[in-house]
Amino acid sequence: MAAKITFFSVGCGDMTLIRLADFDVTTILIDSNIRVAADDPSDSTPDVAKALRKRLLKDDKGRPFVNVFLLSHPDKDHCTGLSNHFWLGDPDEYPDDRLPDGEKRIIIRELWSSPMVFRRHSKNHTLCADAKAFNAEAWRRVEHWQLYRSAIVGNQILIMGEDEDGKTDDLVSILIKCGDTFSTINRNSASSAYFSARLLAPMPRQEDDEVEETLSKNHSSVILNMEIFASQNSSSRTRFLTGGDAEVEIWRRLWTQNKDNSDVLAYDLLLAPHHCSWHSLSPDSWSKYKEDAEVCPDARSALGQARAGATIVSSSKEILDDDVDPPCIRAKREYKAILKPVDGVFLCTADEDPSETLEFEIKSGGTLVRAGVGLLGITSSAVATAAPRAGHLNE
Ligand SMILES: [Zn+2]
Repeated sequence: MAAKITFFSVGCGDMTLIRLADFDVTTILIDSNIRVAADDPSDSTPDVAKALRKRLLKDDKGRPFVNVFLLSHPDKDHCTGLSNHFWLGDPDEYPDDRLPDGEKRIIIRELWSSPMVFRRHSKNHTLCADAKAFNAEAWRRVEHWQLYRSAIVGNQILIMGEDEDGKTDDLVSILIKCGDTFSTINRNSASSAYFSARLLAPMPRQEDDEVEETLSKNHSSVILNMEIFASQNSSSRTRFLTGGDAEVEIWRRLWTQNKDNSDVLAYDLLLAPHHCSWHSLSPDSWSKYKEDAEVCPDARSALGQARAGATIVSSSKEILDDDVDPPCIRAKREYKAILKPVDGVFLCTADEDPSETLEFEIKSGGTLVRAGVGLLGITSSAVATAAPRAGHLNE
C-alpha cells in the first residue's frame, strides 16, 4: 500500500494522519480536534472521528489503534476529543471491549509528548481538560518506564526534546533531543525502512529568561521534518514539515541555527503553521498594520525551503480577504509566493467542504498525489487519482 498523509477538516485546528507504506500499516496521528458538534447529524461539522476510524486497523482484541499519537502543543484546537475518542490509561484496564466498534476508544500504542512544550504553554495558558488528560497519560507512561525500563504497546512513550534542569537525563532511551533524527516506532526499528524524522523544536530551556519568555509566547510546539518513504528502503522520500502553532520567533531562530544547512528545513509538504497565521511570518499585527506589516526574512526563509512541486496545506477555515488572522490572507499570499518559483500548490482543508479530508498518496518516485477526485489546483508534479475516499486499508 502507498504511504498516505490525511488532513482532516477540523476548522482552525490540526488533525493529521500519516500512514506508512509498511506491511503493518503503521499510523502516526498528529493532534486531534474532534468537536462534539460532529456527533450531531444535523450539524454541518465534518464527522472526522468516523473518517479517522475508517483509516485505522484493529488489534487482535478488536480494539482500534494508532501506532503513535503526537501532541504538537496542548492548545484546545489540537487536543479536543482526546478523552472521548482515545483510551488514556493502562491497556490492561481497557474498558470498551463490549461496546460497538464505533464507540470503542482508540488505543495509542506510543505517545510522543514534549514536557518543555507543556511547561512553556502553562506559563501563559490554563490547560483544557483534554490537555490535562494527555499530560496525566504522558506522566503515567514515563513513570511506567522509570519503574520497568521497558514498555509494551499502549504504555510506550517518546519524549520530544529535553526538559529543563536535567529532568529527562535519566530517560535517554525514550528521549529524542532537539536536532536528533529518529526512525523507531513502538520501540521497533522495522519502521526505519519506511520513515525518519528530525526533531527541530522545542528548543531546550534557554539561559536568558527574556528569550525563554519569547519562546513561550510564540506558541512553542513540536516541529518535525519527516521523511516518508514511497516503499521499503526507497530513495523516493517525501519531506513533510509540521510544526503546530509555532510563531515567527521560533521560525526565525530555526533559520539562524540552520541557514548553513538549510536542507534540514526543506519540504515537499508543509502544514502552514498556526492555521496560516500571519504571526508565523511576521511580528507585526495583520489587522493593525495591514499591507504595512513586514515579513520577517529569516522566518520566511525557514518556511520557504519548498522543493520542486511542493504543496502547502492550511488546516483552517476558509481564508477570506479580511482582517481575520488566523487564517490570514496575507500569509496565504506569502506562501503562494514561496511556491511560485517551484511550481507548487497551496490548499486549504476548508476548500474541501463538505468532505472530511484532504488526502495525499506518496507514489513511487516520491511524487505527492492528491487522493480523491478532481484536479483542482494540482500542479504538474501532482496528479489526481480516482481512488475512493474510504476503505484505503484494502487498496
Ligand atoms: Zn492551533
